[in-house]
Amino acid sequence: MPKTYSIVLLPGDGIGPEIVAGAVRVLDRVAELEGFSLTYSEQLIGGISIDTTGDPLPPATVDACRASDAILLGAVGGPKWDDPTAKTRPEVGLLGIRKALSLFANLRPIVPFEELLDASPLKREVIEGTDILFVRELTGDVYFGESGRTGSGAEETAFQNMVYSVSEVERVVRLAARAAQQRRNHLTSVDKANVLEPSRLWRQVAQRVMTEEFPDVRYDVVLVDAMAMHLLSRPRDFDVVVTANLFGDILTDEASMLPGSLGMLPSASLGDSGPGLYEPIHGSAPDIAGQGIANPLATILAASMMLRHSLAEPAAAERIEQAVRQVLADGLRTADIAPQGGNVRPLKTAEMVAAVLTRIS
Ligand code: NAD
Repeated sequence: MPKTYSIVLLPGDGIGPEIVAGAVRVLDRVAELEGFSLTYSEQLIGGISIDTTGDPLPPATVDACRASDAILLGAVGGPKWDDPTAKTRPEVGLLGIRKALSLFANLRPIVPFEELLDASPLKREVIEGTDILFVRELTGDVYFGESGRTGSGAEETAFQNMVYSVSEVERVVRLAARAAQQRRNHLTSVDKANVLEPSRLWRQVAQRVMTEEFPDVRYDVVLVDAMAMHLLSRPRDFDVVVTANLFGDILTDEASMLPGSLGMLPSASLGDSGPGLYEPIHGSAPDIAGQGIANPLATILAASMMLRHSLAEPAAAERIEQAVRQVLADGLRTADIAPQGGNVRPLKTAEMVAAVLTRIS
């Protein structure tokens, strides 16, 4: 009997359905070649789920995800659901599924493709050779702290608490340190310990975990404001970077510009056990949704991370990554990664998926 894996698909909003459909075609092709099979269950999340059920994360979605081997998500959100006075928002679905499955670490590899170095807004000599794995904590920080407003008029005040516990810091630092051991054995922890109390706890706990459990891993600490600069001036100096939810949110978007386009970058959200959630790092791109021009490569690469990390099918993952490299080497580009002012017609989403499929061997 061939191995069968059950995958939950959460296409979500905007370009989500277009890019997830492309990634499924690619997954099916490598499964066939590697002799395993995938079953899919499509579930609701985000804005479309609010429209259909009133809930951005219906219980049926959480149940299906819990019972799966892995989850592939498109994106959630869009202007239709942006009303600040609305009862709920699409992003609540995303935060909720991370929390429900204890997906406490978001892994984002930042490895610019050689073929796209000139698409980066930074100079080739700055980014060449960059290979960073960001590990962003996902279930703590201001995103889950108590929030509210008090007072009125000019005295109305808003607050959102930044909260971290020792165990939350320990588990994400351990996961990042283990990842460093599989790579270049260097971990950088980013915080704002000169100002913020939760950062002081983070620094203290991270230091202890590294000294006691990972004495072999080179370890350093950088303040988040300095890190924002280093990423643009010396990105090659970093291997694995671990940081809190809010800092990670901002730094990883900054780092995503190194490879030139959001449309190229995948991410994985993992816990200690259970299914992982894989998604492109970009959002639902409402400005281009429905036009069939979205770059599907980040989602295709997210599918390849899924094969590697959750399904233990590294050969299938390698087939996908090789095909993506080949597509780029052959000069094929969607609009977001096409050179400015070039005279080659950019590929549409379906054409890019087809180009990847024909290069999978
Ligand atoms: P975005 O990532 O959706 O888009 C930013 C820009 O990049 C846009 O010009 C878009 O067209 C382009 N882009 C993004 N992905 C692309 C792709 N695959 N191919 C080609 N171009 C691509 O960010 P935004 O515009 O700030 O947010 C839009 C919506 O997405 C918001 O509602 C936001 O909350 C949501 N969002 C969701 C997630 C998620 O689901 N994980 C992440 C970020 C933003």
